[in-house]
Amino acid sequence: MPIHHQHPPRKKWSLSMMVLAMGGIVLAALLVYVGLRIILGESPQDQSGQVVRQEATHNLDITYPVLKVGEVDASLKAFADSRADEFAAKIKGKSYDPRNKLTLEFQVPHYGERTLSVIFNQTEEIVGQKPVATQYLLNFDIDSGKRLTLADIFRTEVDARGELTKILHDYFRYDQPNTLNGDQLAKLKDMPLDKIRDFLFYDDMIVFYLNPKDPAKTDGAEPIAIKKSVLVSILQEVYAQPDKSRKPDIKPKPAYAINKLPALPPPPPTVAPHTGGGRIALTFDDGPSAHTNRLLDALAQHQARATFYILGHLASAYSGELQRMVRDGHEIGNHTWLHANLTSLNGPQLDHEIGDTQRIIQQVANYMPRTLRPPYGATNDTVAAYAAKWGLHVIMWSIDPHDWQVHNSQAVYDHIMSRATDGSVILLHDIYSSSVDAAIRAISDLKARGFQLVTVSEIYGL
Ligand code: ZN
Repeated sequence: MPIHHQHPPRKKWSLSMMVLAMGGIVLAALLVYVGLRIILGESPQDQSGQVVRQEATHNLDITYPVLKVGEVDASLKAFADSRADEFAAKIKGKSYDPRNKLTLEFQVPHYGERTLSVIFNQTEEIVGQKPVATQYLLNFDIDSGKRLTLADIFRTEVDARGELTKILHDYFRYDQPNTLNGDQLAKLKDMPLDKIRDFLFYDDMIVFYLNPKDPAKTDGAEPIAIKKSVLVSILQEVYAQPDKSRKPDIKPKPAYAINKLPALPPPPPTVAPHTGGGRIALTFDDGPSAHTNRLLDALAQHQARATFYILGHLASAYSGELQRMVRDGHEIGNHTWLHANLTSLNGPQLDHEIGDTQRIIQQVANYMPRTLRPPYGATNDTVAAYAAKWGLHVIMWSIDPHDWQVHNSQAVYDHIMSRATDGSVILLHDIYSSSVDAAIRAISDLKARGFQLVTVSEIYGL
């Protein structure tokens, strides 16, 4: 197993017992057990178990963490024992020499409420052979004591492999261009999960060890840190949340850090964008909500227009907001009755999701939408044909700050401001306070940059 050192090894303890053993006085097979040694711990995670003893053929100097958490401690002890057993098997039949030695040292880069990460550095020394250093990166579930594999941390009902490799692929394609060539990108996209050689949990991220240039190779693996917030859709819920450390994490020095979903190029609009100068469409899906009115206030203050893709089932409850949208010159679009994936629906179901939404908006606001935004961007020929019956144009977007996922006003604002360009259609959700905060700042600053804020129908010249 290859080594990758990011951390200096933990200091070794000098022990008089050790010296004794080295002296070679002691008889073979005499077991010198120094036992559990509690080291200077002001906090429990600094405690360790230690085994220093002489075996028939060799010496052992093994330390491992002791957390006073039964299940995890048993697993850590079992791991240390397994290393000792494996070394004993390798050296079996040789005669005793104090230079035959297994050393196992550890670091705890992360010790949270739910997860524990441990790095073991192992050195195997056998007389007449080159010493072999091996690093083991282990993760444990603290409650169960179970050592975690990749299969344990991902949700089973989603295509975790597909999503993770897409994030990696998109990151190297769009955020780190010039790192991988086309072949390498394709290989990364097809990478099976077992090509990820190791991973380590931290408070708010997971570091994966793989060779991005050639995932089939185990050497050349590099640490790639990915924020848990980026992986939230594929991680088991219990592992997706930040896991506050009981002491500061020993942070890795990743070769690559993926802190947000990679920036994707805009999908082609279903209608060619208007090519005139300096116009942007802000769109707000899934509302209205209790946050919509202050957004309408900000739009009014800056003489800005926007498009609201509302859900039909909310129209009556927010009739005041809908009427105000019409009065203020905004566009109301159809986002279905209950946020349906339209591609799986038959005719009567489409009539409910799209048709009833048209009817209720007409009834509540005396307004007939002319554009449809299919939830999840999911559409097909049947949907397009049904939409056309209502005169609805299917509208996607070109900038997606993933506001529903990041819930971070600054990140959403930064995403918008760094990408906004003439003809941009920006996807936001006015059901989140953080999104509305971001939009209110962006409205003011986009205007200051000379952009006109218009409806999607204006952008597309409908
Ligand atoms: Zn939606």
